[in-house]
Amino acid sequence: MEVSCSKCNGIAAVYLPYGNENLCKKHFVESFEKRVRRTVREFKMIEKGDRIGVAVSGGKDSMSMLHILKDICGSMRVPLVALSVDEGIKRYRETTLSVAKENCKKLGVEHRILTFKKEVGITVDEIAKREERRGTCSYCGVFRRWILNKSAREMGLNKLAVGHNLDDAAQTVLMNFLRNEPFRLARFGPAGGIVKSEFFVDRIKPLMRIPEREVAVYSIIKGMNIKFGRCPYAHEAFRNDVRIFLNELEEKFPGTKFRVFNSFMSVKGALREKFNSDETPMRCKQCGELSSHEVCMRCQMLEELVG
Ligand SMILES: [Zn+2]
Ligand SMILES: [Zn+2]
Repeated sequence: MEVSCSKCNGIAAVYLPYGNENLCKKHFVESFEKRVRRTVREFKMIEKGDRIGVAVSGGKDSMSMLHILKDICGSMRVPLVALSVDEGIKRYRETTLSVAKENCKKLGVEHRILTFKKEVGITVDEIAKREERRGTCSYCGVFRRWILNKSAREMGLNKLAVGHNLDDAAQTVLMNFLRNEPFRLARFGPAGGIVKSEFFVDRIKPLMRIPEREVAVYSIIKGMNIKFGRCPYAHEAFRNDVRIFLNELEEKFPGTKFRVFNSFMSVKGALREKFNSDETPMRCKQCGELSSHEVCMRCQMLEELVG
């Protein structure tokens, strides 16, 4: 028997257990977009006068985010540019980048691609071949953030939207507790960080209240032609265990991920106060970017890799 939509007579396409709601495609899309818009307003993520960069990998999260931000920015007359980083991961990144290109073209959004090769001089495939004491993902993450911040700033953008969803957020919160790293948690959040500097482009996370499963459904309904692959180097073991644990709990107790995130949000202010330092961040001696040490992490890592 077909289940009908809780809001109309249409056939339900999605069941949202935490709200005990069945929604047809049209009402699901409406609800999804409304929730993203509400998050954007709640944290003043986009305001008049902003120039927004959207980090797009070509995956479901960033592409869904781009679709909605295009509308929001359009109605506010706020300029928006899509930025991709090509880390040099053969096949995997080539596939996702072509999805990013295709969607940007369809939406009429300017799209810039920055490469590891040009910006740091080494690709992730090359990094992976070297036996280094840090995992490949550590280098990749630091280099990608460095490239995005520097490029966004040089392009005159003041905010950078990243496609973190509720699952990512709940995992991050829990991992920080399990590792006893509250100072990291103090820097985490849906918008802005502790660092306030004209040299640092603020991060905004419009999907932070949307469960991953729903982002996938949205991207499929919207026909974004996403390839649901995984990076060949992705094996952050600890996060994976936390993901499985949270998914099991969510199954038994719908709404768990929201509750983890909301708990964090209610203590965030106190965390920031406790771990906030007044010292102004330094500039890296080698590259000139913001850094908490004399030489920034990107430059230290590059030294390890290429000497
Ligand atoms: Zn409906
Ligand atoms: Zn540096």
